[in-house]
Amino acid sequence: MDSDQHSGLTAWKRRQHAARRFSPLDCGCPDPWPCRCSLPPLSDKMIDAGRDAALHVLAVGQVPLLEVEVLQALWRRGGEDRELAELLYTLTDGAIA
Ligand SMILES: [Zn+2]
Repeated sequence: MDSDQHSGLTAWKRRQHAARRFSPLDCGCPDPWPCRCSLPPLSDKMIDAGRDAALHVLAVGQVPLLEVEVLQALWRRGGEDRELAELLYTLTDGAIA
């Protein structure tokens, strides 16, 4: 096991341990991270910002990782935004931030 795997495992165990210390949240999530239930929905401005950032990163030859909520919002918009969301999903092999 290399040190990256080891630190990933250690971090996972730490999260599991931390999660057990919290009582379940009102929304039903066992752990405040990564619960987004109480966050306000993404505004159009935030979705636009995610799209513009992604286009910028693509323009310099890198593949951006968008948050799944942004990716889903772009997909729901349809048209070019949906094409971008599908492209990003394909380029990242389904990985999300
Ligand atoms: Zn939640």
